[in-house]
Amino acid sequence: MLFDLTGKTAVVTGTSGGLGQAMALGLAEAGASVVAISSSNSNATVAAIRELGGQAEEISADLSNADILEDVFNEARGFFGKVDILVNNAGIIRRTPAADHAAKDWYDVIDLNLNSVFFLSQLAGRHMLERGSGKIINVASMLSYQGGINVPGYTASKHAVAGVTKALANEWACRGVQVNAIAPGYMTTNNTAPILKDEARTNSITERIPAGRWGTPDDLKGPVVFLASSASDYLSGHILNVDGGWMGR
Ligand code: NAD
Repeated sequence: MLFDLTGKTAVVTGTSGGLGQAMALGLAEAGASVVAISSSNSNATVAAIRELGGQAEEISADLSNADILEDVFNEARGFFGKVDILVNNAGIIRRTPAADHAAKDWYDVIDLNLNSVFFLSQLAGRHMLERGSGKIINVASMLSYQGGINVPGYTASKHAVAGVTKALANEWACRGVQVNAIAPGYMTTNNTAPILKDEARTNSITERIPAGRWGTPDDLKGPVVFLASSASDYLSGHILNVDGGWMGR
């Protein structure tokens, strides 16, 4: 029962595919109703959840536009009347060397990867604090710790996601709201597709992963259910690496 999410409502962002789709499915498999929010459609995610016998609704929205976040959150809350779990997963990456990194690339990444995470957490947090319970799960990265190469905006955003996770956790843990993050390692999704096209780089990364393989979106199902469920009630401000051992090496 520790991992049972029956009766809970989860709002998950970035659900058209990749990690967000798998986490939405994992939460639904554990019993949660899901509101899936993405800039591109989440039809496949919603259909897969309904096929399981679960409940899911979808919102199409560009979350990098801070002006719409309150309306989007209120619409999401309206579907099932409450939000118990928020998974801030939507994120983009722009790969250009720092010396040539365009201002637009920097701001696009920060607007989505950082600003939407803070403002959606604030909206969900107010609602959860009123109710005295809730779980917020942010998606960080190995680049919440490391600098990366050619992705300065992304690295800045993911370091900040780790910081915001701890800042909110410190204020809200005593009021029944747990804020934690998942830091995925190298996972096979659109985000890493350009790296996967480079066989030499892919192999050198794989060799450094103690598990000996890249992660798949399904590898996040267990961790997200853990952080969304009462099994993690005394976990606060934690960044959970799901990286096949990458950070320990
Ligand atoms: P992805 O590109 O497959 O998925 C990104 C999702 O975000 C998609 O559903 C897309 O529709 C949505 N999205 C993009 N722009 C949006 C916007 N403006 N508004 C709303 N939704 C938007 O990539 P992914 O790998 O599944 O990435 C998910 C998260 O995981 C991101 O935060 C990413 O930084 C993080 N991450 C990924 C990896 C990896 O190896 N794939 C590693 C660490 C962290």
